[in-house]
Amino acid sequence: MSHKIMAINAGSSSLKFQLLAMPQGEMICQGLIERIGMANARVTMKTSAQKWQETAPIADHREAVTLLLDKLLSHHIINTLQDIDGVGHRVAHGGEFFKDSARVTDETLAQIERLAELAPLHNPVNVLGIHIFRQLLPSTPSVAVFDTAFHQTLDESAYIYPLPWRYYAELGIRRYGFHGTSHKYVSTALAERLGIQLSALRVICCHLGNGSSICAIKGGQSVNTSMGFTPQSGVMMGTRSGDIDPSILPWIAEREGKTPQQLNYLLNNESGLLGISGVSHDYRDVEQAADGGNRRAALALTLFAERIRATIGSYIMQMGGLDALIFTGGIGENSARARAAVCHNLHFLGLSIDEEKNLRNATFIQAENAVVKVAVINTNEELMIAQDVMRIALSDKVTFDVSA
Ligand code: ADP
Repeated sequence: MSHKIMAINAGSSSLKFQLLAMPQGEMICQGLIERIGMANARVTMKTSAQKWQETAPIADHREAVTLLLDKLLSHHIINTLQDIDGVGHRVAHGGEFFKDSARVTDETLAQIERLAELAPLHNPVNVLGIHIFRQLLPSTPSVAVFDTAFHQTLDESAYIYPLPWRYYAELGIRRYGFHGTSHKYVSTALAERLGIQLSALRVICCHLGNGSSICAIKGGQSVNTSMGFTPQSGVMMGTRSGDIDPSILPWIAEREGKTPQQLNYLLNNESGLLGISGVSHDYRDVEQAADGGNRRAALALTLFAERIRATIGSYIMQMGGLDALIFTGGIGENSARARAAVCHNLHFLGLSIDEEKNLRNATFIQAENAVVKVAVINTNEELMIAQDVMRIALSDKVTFDVSA
């Protein structure tokens, strides 16, 4: 029997959704509502056969969800709201409390709200999305899926920062890591494709998109990851600096009289590929500029790869070796140049890629005699969310044929 599961990713002014048929994992309908709160909000929806787009005023998230459900009904994608068997919500921060996805209850919601301090821009709007769906679909079970949960297996030695202890003990300042849903999904998919148990593998996963993070996965568990207390740390990203000398910040603050908010903006919105190239945050634009002879754009691409290589190197040390390297995210899945730059000159590790396979984004791109597998795997966070809804909220409804 097939279930229809809705995966929701609510942002401050957007709502991304995907309705999937489970357990097959087939997309029934997906879309995006953007510019919520504005007169020219935009709704984009598509099925395998059709695509719709329209602009309409949408005052708030409640109107956005109501509109989404109305559209699903009017386009006969569902016949009644009860056709939706479960809803999964992406939630940015689960702190140290949530080590796995969790069924939504009043207590779960209260706990996520308490964690808002750690993710003030994301958790409140995630909670809002959960509330609205609970009100509009009161009898439909829902599950919260946390970006941080997969990394709760990190050892203290990987998550404690060398600050005075009370900042961890009293304020919860530690490495949490993000993109957990993606890292978990692609590492599981890798093991399936290799036909090897994930528990027997040492994997490094490079999720390279506008936000980028690297994750070391040993025996199926996250043992280190480059994002930290916030999604700002680690490798360089589209507009985020990643790791820098921390004392640069008080130095700039004093010199230019910047407030903490202004410093945050500088680090999150004006740095990374954009900051160095001065051209764009978008990897493709920076590639184009570099090819056109822009020196800073070329430097931005070099730095992008070098930061990733340094992280990979340290994770190989931590895991005592490497069996597979995965590339995912918009850049990881599509840019042969980025992958080649990251894997350059690593023959001494048994890691080298086949140029032709790399250029055509093949699933496995390692050279024939290479020891380390190098995989390009499209991430699918929505499918992972839907799988968690099935596992956590609907497992009692999965029927098994016991007659065989
Ligand atoms: P987000 O983190 O916002 O989900 P994505 O995973 O969609 O981001 O990745 C966006 C990035 O992927 C952009 O920098 C974009 O330039 C890059 N990208 C997408 N397609 C290509 C491509 N064909 N070649 C190089 N980079 C690409």
